[in-house]
Amino acid sequence: MIIMKTDASETDITRVVAVVEECGLRAAVIRGEYQTVIGPVGDERLLDFDRLATMPGVKEAARVEAPYKLISREYARFFGEPGAHRTVAIRNVHIGNGEPVIIAGPCAVESREQIMRIAEGVKRAGGHILRGGVFKPRSSVHAFQGRGAQGPAGAEEALSWLKEAGDAFDMPTVTEVRGESMVELVARYVDLMHIGARNMYDQDLLADVARQGKPVLLKRHFGASIEELLSFSEYIAAEGNKDLILCERGIVPVGKGKSYTRYTLDLAAIPVIHEETYLPVLVDPSHGTGRQDLVFDMSCAATAAGADGLMIEAHYNPAEALVDGPQMVTPDELKEIVDACRAIYQLRTNVARTRRQ
Ligand code: PEP
Ligand code: MN
Repeated sequence: MIIMKTDASETDITRVVAVVEECGLRAAVIRGEYQTVIGPVGDERLLDFDRLATMPGVKEAARVEAPYKLISREYARFFGEPGAHRTVAIRNVHIGNGEPVIIAGPCAVESREQIMRIAEGVKRAGGHILRGGVFKPRSSVHAFQGRGAQGPAGAEEALSWLKEAGDAFDMPTVTEVRGESMVELVARYVDLMHIGARNMYDQDLLADVARQGKPVLLKRHFGASIEELLSFSEYIAAEGNKDLILCERGIVPVGKGKSYTRYTLDLAAIPVIHEETYLPVLVDPSHGTGRQDLVFDMSCAATAAGADGLMIEAHYNPAEALVDGPQMVTPDELKEIVDACRAIYQLRTNVARTRRQ
């Protein structure tokens, strides 16, 4: 990180940027009210910070030894992020700004009628954003892979149904993008680009999605530590895209755990990520448990722990869903969750207020 003097000239700044770029790194120039900070993005070992520190207009230059800093609260003020928490706008829906935001919809978009009918139920239940998978990551190659598996035409058709349903019920949309070849197509149709747990480690996909200029939802891999999740988030922020939302969706259970729940929801990740970063955090209790009967309790617990929203799989008739039926809630059940989480959010806000006094 290179902190410029308050009276540094434009030429001083340009010279420092040139040195950073000569070494093969990118330079993020953040112009604050009083001083400019230059954040090198890339392998900082290639930079000679002693030399940078002696350049005209430079106040301080030092290597920051942290796997993530662009998204970190500790360095936020240096990288032009003023508040302790960031609000990410998905069209007219603001995440990180108060009441939990509810993303709901089917696991997979199966037909125009199906997504339309689910969208109506999600809206009625108080949902804010419509989800629906077009490219499904499946353990078996013989299982339904989503409409996207039928090639670009099938993908585009399903994406257009999702968008039509979102527009019809005035909800922004989100879908998972898998594979760099589909990034631009998905970006044309949805408001929020979702990178699934299995792709959290795909840094090329992360960078490519980040460059579309749309908000990004990054899910934690089920084997990833919190530090890995944050380090990989940094690939998105490094592209200049900080409209980033993280999602806890459960990690691999120990022992015989899998026979009780599909994954183990790590709810402590919520306050930890809030402390480490300024990013909003969602929880997915559907994949996190794999069980419809646990979704209500885990949604309440996540909200009590400070989640900025929930991602829930919903269907008017879970039994007929081609994917993930056992973890889906109906619109009526979703409404119960929304109402309970609103009440818990209010309680949490009041308690936080008295704790501060
Ligand atoms: C999903 O949300 O559709 C999904 C597949 O979730 P995850 O990537 O968390 O498994
Ligand atoms: Mn699913």
